[in-house]
Amino acid sequence: MGEEFKSGFVSMMGRTNVGKSSIMNRLVKEKVAAIANKPQTTRNAIRAIVNRDNLQIIFIDTPGIHKPKTKLGDIMVETAFGVVPDVDVVLFVIDATSKEIGKGDRIILDKIKESKKKTILIINKIDLVNREDVARLIDLYKDEYNFEAVIPVSVEKNINLDAIIDEIAKHLKVGPAY
Ligand code: GDP
Repeated sequence: MGEEFKSGFVSMMGRTNVGKSSIMNRLVKEKVAAIANKPQTTRNAIRAIVNRDNLQIIFIDTPGIHKPKTKLGDIMVETAFGVVPDVDVVLFVIDATSKEIGKGDRIILDKIKESKKKTILIINKIDLVNREDVARLIDLYKDEYNFEAVIPVSVEKNINLDAIIDEIAKHLKVGPAY
């Protein structure tokens, strides 16, 4: 028996500027045209699809999160970022140059904790820091949540991006190609 086809839904979360769009553009080979047999709401939220031999990953849009500059900004973040979408896996993208878990990252982390979703932590822009910086960030985050994996990457230097797909694949279920 050959390997079964797997598919599933994924959502990428992260502050503005951590590199979500850059990562997505690298992962996606093919933009979505139309998807049948899915509720309208899900279809509208589809951002991109990654197709590989035996798998299909459908990326679902997540409301963006912005660094609050004002009190009003705080409120807007809360409103915009109400829920973690109902997906199989969440990709939580952070910036390797962060020295601590900042306010925006903390808000997202809390939502993920609440949702209890399978989450892969992606540390992007490792080209800008050294190994010790990455290790320190991993230390900070690993006590916060039981991440399925922590993957340091660089879109700029094309480091480790395939590992994201490999890790997502582990958590997809046997299912149809949409
Ligand atoms: P988004 O707001 O999370 O979607 O972030 P973008 O994808 O727009 O990226 C924000 C900025 O970070 C852009 O100027 C990217 O060129 C830059 N960027 C993204 N990935 C990397 C990386 O791995 N290394 C470096 N040095 N810059 C990156």
